[in-house]
Amino acid sequence: MLAMQFANDSRPVMFDPDAEAMPAEQLPALQTRRLRALVDRLLAAGGVQAGRLAAAGVTGGADVSLDDLAELPTTDKGDLWDNYPFGLLAVPREQVVAVHGSSGTGGRPTLVSYTKGDLALWSRMCARALAAAGARPGTIVHNAYGYGLFTGGLGIHQGAIELGATVVPVSGGMTARQVKLIADLRPEILTCTPSYAIRLGEALTEAGLTLETGLSFTAGVFGAEPWTEEMRARIEDLLGLRALDIYGLSEVIGPGVASECIVAADGLHVNEDHFLVEVLDPSTGEPLPDGTPGELTFTTLTKEALPLLRYRTGDIAALRPGSCPCGRTLVKMSKVTGRKDDMLVIRGVNVYPSEIERVLLGEPAVAPDYALVIDARNGGRDLIAVCERITERAAGSPFAGRSASGAGGTAGSGVGVGAGVGVGGGVGVGGAARSDDELREVLEHRLREGLGLRVRVTIVPPGSVPRTEVGKAMRVHRWSAGDPPVPGLPA
Ligand SMILES: [Zn+2]
Repeated sequence: MLAMQFANDSRPVMFDPDAEAMPAEQLPALQTRRLRALVDRLLAAGGVQAGRLAAAGVTGGADVSLDDLAELPTTDKGDLWDNYPFGLLAVPREQVVAVHGSSGTGGRPTLVSYTKGDLALWSRMCARALAAAGARPGTIVHNAYGYGLFTGGLGIHQGAIELGATVVPVSGGMTARQVKLIADLRPEILTCTPSYAIRLGEALTEAGLTLETGLSFTAGVFGAEPWTEEMRARIEDLLGLRALDIYGLSEVIGPGVASECIVAADGLHVNEDHFLVEVLDPSTGEPLPDGTPGELTFTTLTKEALPLLRYRTGDIAALRPGSCPCGRTLVKMSKVTGRKDDMLVIRGVNVYPSEIERVLLGEPAVAPDYALVIDARNGGRDLIAVCERITERAAGSPFAGRSASGAGGTAGSGVGVGAGVGVGGGVGVGGAARSDDELREVLEHRLREGLGLRVRVTIVPPGSVPRTEVGKAMRVHRWSAGDPPVPGLPA
């Protein structure tokens, strides 16, 4: 039903058509010119990257080309940590007008600096993403990404203004206030993390907000955490919108490095006129062919304050060149399927949390808030999937079963969702037909058949799994001997 609605509106305005729909054969010349200028800037700035370029025999931009990109040195998060806070600057410190970053895992912060030019670039990238989602000047954008050091909130905020849209800077949390603003302002675009979209959708449903009574979203732009096609279907059912993915990280610029178009919604167009993308083998660092998942690696062709050559993100995805019905010629990347360092090794089997999510959320009775516990307390390495049942209010959403994308979009993922057991077979809305024991058995069977993994599934009451206030899901918990129990998770 929603697909029809969008079919009549198949060509949203492109923010920057000269770049986004550039004839594919013209792109390499532009990238080469910018890459050479970047190398010259890095060499002039001195520091770590200049030293590595010199060691690789590069004396100037003219020495490099796209064909020998793989010969150039890489950077990674360790370089940002080692040179914290301003050691990687390629401009005088006084030209930095803003910093963003992350508090970091293990208490090691990452700080990224921006010049005025960088902020302008970032705004344009986010404007591209919003326009690709169907936003136009005047479109009301409800921005529930957190504002602050985190790049989500201010990135989308500035992009909305750049586009001429009307941004509501509501930030994360305080869900009751968000529900009121959505009812009063009738925004068309929702921007937040996918897990917060679920939470907000449940609150809107509980407040009785439907398409008839004021729910007005056409699209959502969701990012800052990996999410699956199953999660996309859940969000679309709950909110009655087209759920689109946006990708970015503060080291590269923030959100807007890549984003999905509402026309195809089957992969994220990478803004490769500014961010040269490669996919590398996570172990060897060798380039991988198109279509093969590996580590996303970006060269910031035009960024000023903190330009990075071949920055290895740790995010796993695959590239897919080719034309798109939206008219964009930019290469597409798949959804991020996980982080290099998130890969779980369970009794010799390598598995990403997203693969487990596909199986869990393939079952309609399971709520999107789940947790994975790696239990190493007894010397072993057992995996426990802690699942909540979907609440009656979420199951009773006016949009349930009307997903725009459906849950069938996992073809080629290599993981057979529901292998051996029909997905949702014979289960009523909310899965009330199955007891907790039956649900547990079905999920354990599917995980064993689909992933070759023995996982203990535990069903807990709704609201048990720990959540963060800004909606960034902390899904993986590691237990070692002597660790105290985590509230909400089984001991
Ligand atoms: Zn497209």
